[in-house]
Amino acid sequence: MRIIVQKFGGTSVASPEVRELALRKIEKVREQGFSPVVVVSAMGRQGAPYATDTLIGIARSAYKGIAARELDQIMYCGEMISAVVMAGTLQAAGMDAIMLTGGHAGIITDANYTDARIVKCDPTRLIHLLRQGKVPVVCGFQGMTGDNEFTTLGRGGSDTSAAALGAALNAELVEIYTDVDGIMTADPRIVENAKILDCISYGEVCQLAHQGAKVIHPRAVEIAMQKNIPLVVKSTFSEAPGTLITNIAKEDTDGTAVIDRVATGVTYLNNIVQIKVHLDDAMGTDASFKVFKTMADSGISVDLINVHPGQIMFTINADHAEKASIRLKRLGYEIEVLENCAKVSVVGGGMREVPGVMASFIEALSRNRIAILQTVDSHTSISVLVPQSDVETAVKSLHEKFGLSN
Ligand code: ASP
Ligand code: MG
Repeated sequence: MRIIVQKFGGTSVASPEVRELALRKIEKVREQGFSPVVVVSAMGRQGAPYATDTLIGIARSAYKGIAARELDQIMYCGEMISAVVMAGTLQAAGMDAIMLTGGHAGIITDANYTDARIVKCDPTRLIHLLRQGKVPVVCGFQGMTGDNEFTTLGRGGSDTSAAALGAALNAELVEIYTDVDGIMTADPRIVENAKILDCISYGEVCQLAHQGAKVIHPRAVEIAMQKNIPLVVKSTFSEAPGTLITNIAKEDTDGTAVIDRVATGVTYLNNIVQIKVHLDDAMGTDASFKVFKTMADSGISVDLINVHPGQIMFTINADHAEKASIRLKRLGYEIEVLENCAKVSVVGGGMREVPGVMASFIEALSRNRIAILQTVDSHTSISVLVPQSDVETAVKSLHEKFGLSN
């Protein structure tokens, strides 16, 4: 059996016309001899009656602080409605389609409501159905605990469902259908000549996603990577081939890996606040530990961390800035808070050990008189903190400098 998982996002199942396009993608792989497992998101975006955000709004209209468990029960409904409608669409076209919840499809999670982790994915039932020639239509974003409680996998989690099912079924391919032609070198709203990437490695796409590109859920990529299942991000609305995500950046015609690109894409994250904490010897040797412990105990995740004698710098999401500064001041720390910052990153699997990457980066920014507030780098990315007002110029100039505009 050649299994393929086809996941359709909210805009790909939003109306009867669009569902017909999705139907054609399913029919096509069946004609090619594949057994598809269809995974769907809730229909449409915010404002659409059964979109996830609409459902959250309904629950919160009863009580803003409604518990996570109750939120999961209402969010569950979005994918249920979508999967029923999609199964009906396939049945009308003569397919033996069967709608399944995440739990029916064997996705078992922990009980961390609204952001549950998959602990096991048992494909037995799906395999049985596929052997009978049925087309399972599975609700994305959902799981079930060992105690039969409904859970969801975190926003955007239908990608995670598709990858987990693909891995459990040892699928030949997982297709992620969306409303763009693939993963791009930058946000096209900022960079007019941003391009669709024909292929990208798991590592690069994880970095891009963590650094702000809204392409695919990074957890989905991590799951697919573990079992080496290729993913394709492509459009329901076109015939474009999409972006292939595999373990190498590019394959030559003879199947050998071609050297990775220095830069694959430029991304940005807005809404960042930089915090500087001044330390003096009188505060004792565990002063820096206490800073990070306080952040951890407050549930605040920190990024761009620099620890120096006498000073610690880090960034946090703007939503947590007030809480962080109150707690640190209460402990007696002297702090400086810089608001309205953004993190701009260049990601590329091939930048390790290439001399001059940082120099090019700094040159592009300083030529445009952009202040660099902080930097951090890894083997496959360089990030800088810049003033929010300079984000667009920074992204454009880095895209150009690293040859992505050609
Ligand atoms: N419907 C869910 C959400 O909006 C899951 C998804 O679309 O992937 O987050
Ligand atoms: Mg999504």
